[in-house]
Amino acid sequence: MTGEVLLLGDYELDLGSIQRELSSRKVRKVLIQLPEGLKRYYPKLAEYLRERFQVEVYLDAGPTYGSCLLDSGRVGEYDLVLHVGHDPYPLATYPTKILFLDLEYTSTNLGKLLENAEKALRGVGVGRLAIVTTNQHKKLSKLIKEGLEERGFTVEVGPLLVLGCYIPGGLGEVDAVLVVSGGRFHSLGVGLAVGRGRVFRVDPYTGVVEDVAGEVYKLLKVRLEKMRRAVDARSWGLVVGVAGQYRPALIAALKELLERRGLSYYIYVAPVLNIEVLRNIDSPGIEAYVVTSCPRIAIDDLHYFEKPVLTPSEAMVVLREGALTSYPRDFLPSMR
Ligand code: SF4
Repeated sequence: MTGEVLLLGDYELDLGSIQRELSSRKVRKVLIQLPEGLKRYYPKLAEYLRERFQVEVYLDAGPTYGSCLLDSGRVGEYDLVLHVGHDPYPLATYPTKILFLDLEYTSTNLGKLLENAEKALRGVGVGRLAIVTTNQHKKLSKLIKEGLEERGFTVEVGPLLVLGCYIPGGLGEVDAVLVVSGGRFHSLGVGLAVGRGRVFRVDPYTGVVEDVAGEVYKLLKVRLEKMRRAVDARSWGLVVGVAGQYRPALIAALKELLERRGLSYYIYVAPVLNIEVLRNIDSPGIEAYVVTSCPRIAIDDLHYFEKPVLTPSEAMVVLREGALTSYPRDFLPSMR
C-alpha cells in the first residue's frame, strides 16, 4: 500500500499511513486540516477519501498555522483527524486519533539551488554545515545534503526539523546553518537563536540562497529597543493563548516576576492575536505587553505597535534584571 501519493498542486502527499489507518479501524467521520495557503486542495483530498473509504469528510476552515493550535476539544467528535503539512509540536501531547502527515513540495529546481548554495558558501569560505528544514522540504533537504557533500562540504548536523519557535540545539558549532524553507520566517528565527555565525536561507520556491545576517542584525536592533522601552513599564498586559499555545508554567513564572517587582498586570485570553485584537483590548494604563501564546507574533506581527510587545524570553530578561543585559537566544524559556 505504501508508495501511492496524491498530488495537491506542487505538493505530494504520501497516502501510505492514511490507507493503513483507515483499513485497520472503523472510521466514519474524518476531519482534514490543511495548512494556510493549501486549503484550496481540500476537495481533491475529500474526494479521494470518500471514494476510496466511504467516509464522511469534514474540512477545517479555521486557521491552521501550526500543530501547536490543534485543539483536542475541537477535534473531539471525529473518529480520525488528518493534520497535514506540520509535524507534532514538541511541547504538546495529542490524542491517538490525530494522524500527522508530511507534505513535500516537488517543484524545486535542485540543480539551480545547489549551484546557488555552492556559490554563496564558497564566497565566504565556510565548509562545516548544519541543515534545518520544515515539514514540506524533508526529502529535498536530504538531497541538498547529498549534493553539497558531493561538492566537498561537510554537513555535520541535520537535516533537522525547525519550527518558528523551536530551534534545534548544536547549530552554533558549525561554520554555517542552511535553513531550507520558503520566505524568511524560519531563517530569521534561526538567526536570532544562533546569534553569531552565518545563517543562509535556502528557498525551495525561488532558488535564492543568501546570508540573512544583515536582516537579523536589523531585527535584533528592533527587539533590543522594545526591551529597553519595556524596562520602565509599571503596568503590563499578559496575553495568554489556547490549546498548545496555552503555557501555564510560563504564565506563572511571569506573574511571579511581575509581582516580585511590584508591577501591576492584567491577563488577557486571546485565541487569536493580531494588531486589530491588540488595538481593541489596549487601554491607556498599560505600558507593555508580553505574548505567551505564539512568541513569533511579538516579533513578526506586532513590532510596529506603539507600545513594546515582547516575547516571554525578552520579558523575563527585562523583569529579572530590571535592565537590558543581553538578548535571549530562545523564544520560549519553558522549552529548555
Ligand atoms: S512559532 Fe508560533 S505558530 Fe509556529 S510552532 Fe511556535 S507557537 Fe506555533
